[in-house]
Amino acid sequence: MNEQYRLFIDGKWQAPHDGQWLESTNPYTNEVWCQIPKATTPDVDAAVGAAKAAFVRWAGLHASERATWLHRLADKLEVHAEHLAKTEVKDNGKLFAEMRMQMAYLPKIYRYYAGLADKVVGQHVPIDKPNHLALTNYEPLGVVMAITAWNSPLLIMAWKIAPALAAGNTVVVKPSEFASASSFEFAKCVEEAGVPDGVINILSGLGADVGEAITSHPDIAKISLTGGGQTGAHVYSEAAKSLKHVTLELGGKSPNIVFADADQERAAAGVISGIFAASGQTCIAGSRALVHRKIADEFCERLVTIGKEARLGDPMNASTHIGPVTTPGQYQKILDYISIAKAEGAQCLLGGQAATGEQCGNSPWFVEPTIFRGVTNQMRIAREEVFGPILSVLTFEDDDEAIAIANDTEFGLAAGIWTTDMNRALMLPSRLQAGTVWVNTYRSLSVMLPFGGYKHSGIGRENGLNAMYEYLQEKTILVNCETGPVTNPFVMK
Ligand code: NAD
Repeated sequence: MNEQYRLFIDGKWQAPHDGQWLESTNPYTNEVWCQIPKATTPDVDAAVGAAKAAFVRWAGLHASERATWLHRLADKLEVHAEHLAKTEVKDNGKLFAEMRMQMAYLPKIYRYYAGLADKVVGQHVPIDKPNHLALTNYEPLGVVMAITAWNSPLLIMAWKIAPALAAGNTVVVKPSEFASASSFEFAKCVEEAGVPDGVINILSGLGADVGEAITSHPDIAKISLTGGGQTGAHVYSEAAKSLKHVTLELGGKSPNIVFADADQERAAAGVISGIFAASGQTCIAGSRALVHRKIADEFCERLVTIGKEARLGDPMNASTHIGPVTTPGQYQKILDYISIAKAEGAQCLLGGQAATGEQCGNSPWFVEPTIFRGVTNQMRIAREEVFGPILSVLTFEDDDEAIAIANDTEFGLAAGIWTTDMNRALMLPSRLQAGTVWVNTYRSLSVMLPFGGYKHSGIGRENGLNAMYEYLQEKTILVNCETGPVTNPFVMK
């Protein structure tokens, strides 16, 4: 019997108001494996109401007490890490090896922000007014809505709610309708840890059903969304109507720049993992390889050689390199872009079609790892986010041209540089319009480092010390300590 999840609101498991559930399909077995509640506006109201009521108590705790709760939650996440990883694989078809690493990392994120909770301090400002005492302080915003994408549900959730909770906010989480189960399994850990009721609430449902209820809700102070650019722009404009704080983590078209002096073996491995890991379904996918013209032939041969070794198969199997695409819609989108690239005149060096065969099990959603050469930066395959295992190879003549091509995109999430030249390694990152620039590595993240996008890749930052301040507002307190006679009340001092 498939598990039928319930909404987690105010510490209780509740059926959705309309009594409807959505089916979740395992992308590898192509079988419905669980049902998730289809929340609607009354459920959003209930969850936000619970979070609002809990806010007073949670924000009133000493920061070190909130930290203790986050540590307790982290303890439970450690205990259930393996189960959470398996749940995510069933939901989104990503490799167990990757989800297991993510789940092992999850508790560290909660512990990192638990550690920061009582380090947020205001200032005494020695201002230019005699006999005045000026202080600043940081206070939480209120109820934070975290909306997550399907590719790494619990990791993305942690980036949002760990700092939000540490800062004293309460949260409502809405995971993607394509991968909500792990968020409910996470809620079981919240329950087991005994986190006070209403502090963390989990809703599932369609963006279209609950979107307006979220963006217009008067009691939501902030929305932190990870998703596609169109969703981001829509949520941003709707949230503006009630002046909500917003953090947006959106898509990318990241360049991986390979200079002629690069260690080609390492660079090729980096470019391949940058695009084919997670079947290319990552916001930081290095989907444009910019290769120096002098080494382009040799480098493309390397890429094809490694790409051919990719083993498609069951994501639970440790020897699998590439699993299925998560959703039928995403699968079709990837195939459409392959057709577009071919029609635009790109030369297909590897793959270029759907993958079938025994290794794909019952899944109709495998795509062959694909490499296109002869791509220009004007082609749609180089400009639009595919979110699939499709690499476009472009060439450049010199550093200036590489930087110009890299920056000629509406996105700015990440970039990679492969070089053994120290000057390039040190000087070029600042010329790239991207939130993260990796040198001689790719797709390497840490909770201790800020992450976020330039341009259309997002607004605000997650991770690192400053992410706490995305969930805080600064207060100024000015105390007049003058005792002399009152002067002219009509003149502002
Ligand atoms: P999506 O935009 O379709 O959905 C994201 C979330 O928004 C889902 O929970 C969805 O239900 C919700 N949503 C949709 N419409 C809404 C509305 N009107 N109001 C409120 N919520 C709404 O994205 P996706 O397909 O789940 O994820 C893929 C996208 O996410 C890609 O573009 C990828 O680059 C991006 N992404 C970015 C990061 C990052 O950190 N920058 C990380 C992972 C994924």
